[in-house]
Amino acid sequence: MTTPVRCLVIEDEELLRMALGDALRAEGFELLEAGDGEEGLQLALREAPDVILLDLMLPVRDGFSVLRALREDRLTSPVIILSARGEEWDRVQGFEFGADDYVVKPFSTAELLLRIRAVLERARGGTPGLAGTDGRARFGDVEVDFAGYSLTRDGARHGLSRRELDLLRYFLEHEGRALERQRLLDDVWGRDSFPTTRTIDTHVLKLRKKIEPDPESPRHLLTVHGVGYKFVR
Ligand code: CA
Repeated sequence: MTTPVRCLVIEDEELLRMALGDALRAEGFELLEAGDGEEGLQLALREAPDVILLDLMLPVRDGFSVLRALREDRLTSPVIILSARGEEWDRVQGFEFGADDYVVKPFSTAELLLRIRAVLERARGGTPGLAGTDGRARFGDVEVDFAGYSLTRDGARHGLSRRELDLLRYFLEHEGRALERQRLLDDVWGRDSFPTTRTIDTHVLKLRKKIEPDPESPRHLLTVHGVGYKFVR
């Protein structure tokens, strides 16, 4: 039996906090909850949870201040920021203050779970091919910079959209496995959004142009006929 993952949700919108709590408990997480920044900070320092979901606009103490205080206290629990604000300023500031990831409200439960699993695996130094402690993953002649939303191949830097980065991360996490388009949609895009499976093909083409030496005959992102795609390093 494995110990349940302990997740602290610091969120003042009670309905959202309850919904998150229900969804995470259903996935087997043990939940800790706080409705303001100060309570959240104290709970985090006392309990050292496995992962922290942190809202930014919070009463008493805002999310950035909580994050800075956590890191000053050398608490290393991964932090995923939940915010209604999606501006570049917030994202950069969040990563500078030591956030591990960032989701913009409204987000799907599937997307959040994917991100939680990714930060947990990274924190454990887990899955081969996934970002190490430096937040980078390497395969072939490609180096992915997750925090920088970019990758480098052959000395050339390519920017990645959030979806491209999510999709690439998902492929890395499921290396060597044939992944159906529908599963990619469910797990990367989330069930609450309605893109078509064509969306996957478009994103795979974009990724191939960035990671493949010859996008016409891919070495890493392979087509599995009648199924979908498979990533090999
Ligand atoms: Ca709030």
